[in-house]
Amino acid sequence: MPFWSRSKPPPEPEPLPPHRAKVVVIGAGQAGLSTAYYLKRLGIEPPDDLVVLDRGPGTGGAWQFRWEALRLGSAHRVNDLPGMQELGLSFETADRKRPAKDVVAEYYRLYEEHFELAVRRPVEVTRVFNRELDLVVATEGGQEYIADAVVNATGTWGAPFVPWYPGLNTFAGRIVHTSDYRQAEDFEGQDVVVVGGGTSAIGFLLELEHTAKSLTWVSRRPIDFLDEGELDIEARRQAVEQQDEAARAGRALPSIVSGTGVARTRRIQAGIERGVLDRREMFKAIEPDGVRFSDGSLQHADAIIFATGFRPELRHLSPLRLREKTGGVTVGNGAAYRDPRIFFAGYGPQASTIGANRAGRMIARQVVAQLSKF
Ligand code: FAD
Repeated sequence: MPFWSRSKPPPEPEPLPPHRAKVVVIGAGQAGLSTAYYLKRLGIEPPDDLVVLDRGPGTGGAWQFRWEALRLGSAHRVNDLPGMQELGLSFETADRKRPAKDVVAEYYRLYEEHFELAVRRPVEVTRVFNRELDLVVATEGGQEYIADAVVNATGTWGAPFVPWYPGLNTFAGRIVHTSDYRQAEDFEGQDVVVVGGGTSAIGFLLELEHTAKSLTWVSRRPIDFLDEGELDIEARRQAVEQQDEAARAGRALPSIVSGTGVARTRRIQAGIERGVLDRREMFKAIEPDGVRFSDGSLQHADAIIFATGFRPELRHLSPLRLREKTGGVTVGNGAAYRDPRIFFAGYGPQASTIGANRAGRMIARQVVAQLSKF
């Protein structure tokens, strides 16, 4: 036996000394950046008092992972971050020919630099927990932050949702969720089934029109195509109210799309007229070769794309036991009912770029009010 194999194992690395901060913001997407901006304006400054952590490799929040063909335009609109006009930037005038993922990543980077938000990345938060009176935010790298308040702004991208259908695990083809979708070429010459009633499903169908061999579109409910003016006001207000009610009652959050319908843009109207956007009722079961409808017919499929949405990503908060038996976390005015030191930005009714902006302002004020109680 060589002498080195008998030597003692190397000592465990010394744990890093904890960093004490007033506020830790987890996530640097629209919600986290907007909250950090307002906190800074209220005098809570990075990098010591305010720590912003993000596990992504670059700027852009979830947008950095969106697929190549996604563009900002009529179906996808990003609201300007608060204070962004100071940089002479606006998403309204951004280049619509460039992938949205690149535009958003670039604008967020300029924003972070301009306002010196000192986001630390890639840093994954693995657990938030109580150690006696301390609220501890632990990261994968072994660093701990002890915070007076935590703002969770982790979005939904990391928690894709695929509903269960009989036979799902027997399917011999590819199951792809929105979060795995990269480009149309991956489906060249294939029979593709697209599941879902929102803008992502529609975007995939239009993108695959000339690449896939066949396209079948299914959704649980018929699609409510609405003229853009109609869509914005009443339907959106109701959908946001439903989300708000669920968050306040600690229930699992309902789907936004089923509440708002889909804007009938010119591109979508043309797709309807060409017959690409011809939705069928949901299939009954999945089989190794395809999907079986209730009339007994089988649609062959090489791939099923689930554009079926996301759930809030809250795993790292589980030691805090904030979840209710009803499936959600009770959140009112941005704070968790079960622990007023934990705030949620971009959660439920705030899950859009405009909602995230508003959340940032409201939560920053609430955080400062909470800190004044110490
Ligand atoms: P995100 O942008 O997801 O940011 C969350 C951040 O948290 C990420 O950077 C992530 O890395 C980080 N994070 C997560 N977990 C951890 C952890 N444990 N530790 C450290 N960091 C973590 N809304 C619109 O207003 N307009 C649109 O056009 C639009 N299009 C959309 C298209 C798609 C396909 C999807 C899925 C959503 C879309 N949305 C849109 C809604 C979406 O809610 C907004 O895009 C908004 O940008 C979300 O911002 P956010 O800050 O809440 O989340």
